[in-house]
Amino acid sequence: MSFRSETIVPIYKQIPILFIPLVLLWSCNNSGREHSKESNQGILFQVSVIDALLQGLFDGVYPVDKMMEKGDFGIGTFHALNGEMIILNDTLFQVVSSGEVNMPSGNILTPFAVITEFKSDKQISLGELSFDSLKNSFSQYFPTPNMFYAIKMQGEFRRVRTRSVPEQSKPYPTLAEVAAVQPEFTFENVEGVIVGFYCPHFVKGINVTGLHLHFLTGDRKGGGHLLDFEMKSGSMEIGYLPDFRLLLPEEGDFFEGDFTKDRTKELEKIEN
Ligand SMILES: [Zn+2]
Repeated sequence: MSFRSETIVPIYKQIPILFIPLVLLWSCNNSGREHSKESNQGILFQVSVIDALLQGLFDGVYPVDKMMEKGDFGIGTFHALNGEMIILNDTLFQVVSSGEVNMPSGNILTPFAVITEFKSDKQISLGELSFDSLKNSFSQYFPTPNMFYAIKMQGEFRRVRTRSVPEQSKPYPTLAEVAAVQPEFTFENVEGVIVGFYCPHFVKGINVTGLHLHFLTGDRKGGGHLLDFEMKSGSMEIGYLPDFRLLLPEEGDFFEGDFTKDRTKELEKIEN
């Protein structure tokens, strides 16, 4: 008799304590979803590694539109090394080797790119500033060299020198071979924006260490990978990126790549 009456008691009356954690769990999940749109601030997402590009692994491995779901601010290159990538205010630009700026559709693939959801943690007004003086007075602007940063610099420039790279065909050369014959562009008395990143020295082999910046003119008709600049006046916004996420190719030539070699010197030569 007592056994029967116990089995008729509704389950929520027997073990009410079970329902409290379930409700808590559900509400936690819900709030997580509500905040997921903002959750990519402070995170640097990277497709593949720089040592893949250095050895000529130029096949696109990741769709740019899928990458742009993770952020609105980035740089990189395109399938077969077809130009320099700039993502600014969630808009994709491609500076091709003729110097023209295209706005390709997002289904294009990238072999190497970095992106973040830009958040300005520090704003600095700038007067006259050259690329060399920015590098030499790094500690004046950045709290530590041991952090990733997103960098946006807007202003008037006396002179900007950039490069782009022509589309490659297979068998692909190395990046050093491509860089030896890359077209360069000079802009004088131009308004524009520098988009890029700083990576700490401990990521050599993974990304370009130090400053890696791209440039886009104010009229969005020119730009490229930044080689040198002389700013008249402008501003710099810095976003701190303490979270680093690497998206590796899941198939293709990357699997046969040789990552045992130290390619630091090769990269230094290309960057300078
Ligand atoms: Zn670049």
